[in-house]
Amino acid sequence: MSQDKRRQRGFSRRKFMQSAAASAAVATSGTMLAGQAQAKKKTPHLDADVVLQNGRIYTMDEQGTVASSVAIKDGRFMEIASGRAHIRTGPRTRIIDLRGSTVVPGIIDNHNHLVLMGNRPGYHTPLENAHSLAEALATIGARARELPRDAWITTIGGFHFNHFYANPADKTTGRFPTLAELDLVAPNNPVFLSISFSGPSVTNTAGRNILNNRVVDPVNDGVPIVVGADGSMAGGFGATHTSRALLYLRRTLLNSEERRRSTLDAMRYAASLGVTTHIDQGAFQALDNPTDGAAHEDNFTMHFPFLEMYEQGKGLVRLRINFLHMEMDDATPELVQRLKNAFPFFGGDMVKTGGIGEFIAQGTAVPGRFLEAARKVAKAGWRAEVHSLGRRGSATSAPPDYELEISAFETVNTEFPGVVGDKRWVVAHVPGITLEWINKLKAIGGGLSLTGWQFLAGNPVTNPIAPYAGPPFRMILDSGINSGLSSDGMQIAPMNPWIHMYFATTGINARGVEINRNQQITRQEALRLYTRDNGWFVREENELGSIEVGKLGDLVVLDRDYFAVSNEELKRIRSVMTIVGGNIVHDAKVLRVERERDDED
Ligand SMILES: [Zn+2]
Repeated sequence: MSQDKRRQRGFSRRKFMQSAAASAAVATSGTMLAGQAQAKKKTPHLDADVVLQNGRIYTMDEQGTVASSVAIKDGRFMEIASGRAHIRTGPRTRIIDLRGSTVVPGIIDNHNHLVLMGNRPGYHTPLENAHSLAEALATIGARARELPRDAWITTIGGFHFNHFYANPADKTTGRFPTLAELDLVAPNNPVFLSISFSGPSVTNTAGRNILNNRVVDPVNDGVPIVVGADGSMAGGFGATHTSRALLYLRRTLLNSEERRRSTLDAMRYAASLGVTTHIDQGAFQALDNPTDGAAHEDNFTMHFPFLEMYEQGKGLVRLRINFLHMEMDDATPELVQRLKNAFPFFGGDMVKTGGIGEFIAQGTAVPGRFLEAARKVAKAGWRAEVHSLGRRGSATSAPPDYELEISAFETVNTEFPGVVGDKRWVVAHVPGITLEWINKLKAIGGGLSLTGWQFLAGNPVTNPIAPYAGPPFRMILDSGINSGLSSDGMQIAPMNPWIHMYFATTGINARGVEINRNQQITRQEALRLYTRDNGWFVREENELGSIEVGKLGDLVVLDRDYFAVSNEELKRIRSVMTIVGGNIVHDAKVLRVERERDDED
């Protein structure tokens, strides 16, 4: 596509982009930006809206260009300059001096559960970035200071006490904070911290006073919550004291207003990490009883707070919505209705529908049902994404899930020629996939979503649930199949992409053990997987994933040099400024914005 055409297209979308821009600005923080948003109703002019200059801008274009300046206008990149070349600015242009900062394209997370994060009860407080017990407690303490008395501080998934080292010099000392430690930092707020899908969890005295001995669900369960004297609550699958506590929090705290507040919190957090586009992979259908875990929500209503935020123009990051379908009935009646009554790839640049996934049936437990579900998705012309955690040679003699999935994809691709490549069908996680099956999926045009989720709890020696590491990043990249990085946050993994890049490039888990030997990739490759290569997954490789003229104006200014920092610092990279469609959606107030536009009309 020529640049002119791209510009024209950008121009024709200007009205949409301006309203999205205006609303994003309003949402960012308060009145100053709201004023700018109003100022957007103005006469057309030729000045760039924003120019960032004097930086090291890794464009991730095909040539690997590192530019020094970039201009954004009407939501899209207008001009990119290298060396000392100058980009023309005008009186309407906001100029940001990067002072040598590293800039990368907006991160695309091709597989996570952002919508679940936006529906968490209480003030969800990510702990994934704490790299010691002291840092975890400091994070909770800071949250307590900004919240009203008695408000619940919750952290539901995304972290593991493996990285809460009691002694930072010894990475085997990770543990939950104790009730007494939580009381010290949050004396006036109840706290609930729960790992993974279903705990275990811990609370403080204020929380224990509310939860202990409470019967949450007399109808379905009738069992009172037991909180240990140390604040601990047992976890595990099914009804547990952790899941009873979680149900209590959901039933008492969640309402439409809280979900909207939590949704904005989740988007703000994403923007602070530099994750500007998300493919959400849905939830397990909630039953509103104590068997619901952290990954359960109502698949038919949980998007409402997000859609409301976008409708009001307050959406900060781009969302692509997958619909998860997991049914015991071979006829998959809910999937049938979804395919009949929803539209794939429908929406605008900020929010649109994606595909069916990360489940299209009840896993591969019944291969015939899986194949039939895949057939229905193909016939309706949707994208399918399925998840795989299997490995050949593990305990059972049944073929691993990825073999069943890819075989079904092959069958469907014959019946509906080219559907797998055209619609971008994906197998996600694939810790145990072999080269033979990578090549089969590659041959029909499919892709693999790769994640560093084993960073948190993966340990071939000590964790029987993850007796092997993976995914085999190196083998997958060398095969040439479509692949991209994702977080699979918010339950079993962090959203923070820099932690996943740490794992992909070092193979080292949260306990400091190298568990993915010989499968490491380079930092250049990891960044490409999280940006340019993920354009394929959203089917928007002409719009997203690199800093190129005509593409959507999403970028991240980093607080340190991704390519130069030590491995330990890699995990701690943050955005100092995140821009989505030309709008500043996260600003750590490190960079000076010159010629701050006022009401110029
Ligand atoms: Zn997932």
